[in-house]
Amino acid sequence: ATPTALLVGTSRGAQKGVLIKGPQVLEDTRRVDTVVLDKTGTITTGQTRLTDIAAEPGLHPYAVLAAAAAVESGSEHPIARAIVERAETKGVKVPAITDFTSTAGAGASAEVGGTRVTVGKAELFEEIPGELATLDRPGTTVFVGWEGKARGALTVTDDVRPSSMQAIRELRTRGLQTWLLTGDTGTNARAVAEQVGIDPEHVIADVRPEDKHAQIAALQEQGRVVAMVGDGVNDAAALAQSDLGMAMGAGTDVAMESADIVLKRDDLLSVPAAMDLSDRTLEVIK
Ligand code: ADP
Ligand code: MG
Repeated sequence: ATPTALLVGTSRGAQKGVLIKGPQVLEDTRRVDTVVLDKTGTITTGQTRLTDIAAEPGLHPYAVLAAAAAVESGSEHPIARAIVERAETKGVKVPAITDFTSTAGAGASAEVGGTRVTVGKAELFEEIPGELATLDRPGTTVFVGWEGKARGALTVTDDVRPSSMQAIRELRTRGLQTWLLTGDTGTNARAVAEQVGIDPEHVIADVRPEDKHAQIAALQEQGRVVAMVGDGVNDAAALAQSDLGMAMGAGTDVAMESADIVLKRDDLLSVPAAMDLSDRTLEVIK
């Protein structure tokens, strides 16, 4: 290989917002046959908004919002930020908390005025009243409650990036299989997959952050050469496990450190662009 051509390729990449961390990465890119995409912040914008609040009978929706926002004031999760932001814009008074704890990929809890309040996935509650359990709303629904019982439900949605569908179409044109990997529920994950054109059978949902890398390894064991695209702290181990890790540029530092390619533009079209770039660069060398 001519080192000069490799340098040309990588500096042209830099202009397009594709930062390739070394010549070997070009070869790895060409071998990839499977692309695994994180959902939140990768296929979607990560700009999560609160769209609905439901409360058990006798409880005001703003009481649900206040309790949830109190707990979530201790969390950096996009869902937490959406809940806290809505409480602020509605002028809802958010009580102070103590003893905040969080369970990665499930939710958070804290002491609010002498009661331990929990926010997060259904599995964190012993009892969910029927009217809350059967809500069928587009987006991700989390519950808030205390003493084991869910008292309210909050739904957040996160818009798909406008170019995600085209990016996935381009990957398919290249003959690549695309998968969606997320900690979110299957229902919401499949809805997002449908919007962007990912096969529902290629959706891996309800995956805990510490298990994402094992899902990549399972695909590799089937003989697949896997690229992983992600943005979060949650994705770092999966990026490292993959044959080609790609981090979205607006993501976390940990993700960028674990990746082989950093996509400076916060846009999924950078993924096929990075593959085109590797192809062209390797052709120059031959
Ligand atoms: P993703 O893989 O989509 O980035 P995460 O692993 O961060 O998702 O979270 C998975 C799920 O856990 C969320 O969809 C949500 O149901 C729940 N969850 C995690 N953290 C919180 C939180 N702070 N508040 C409420 N729910 C949470
Ligand atoms: Mg993410």
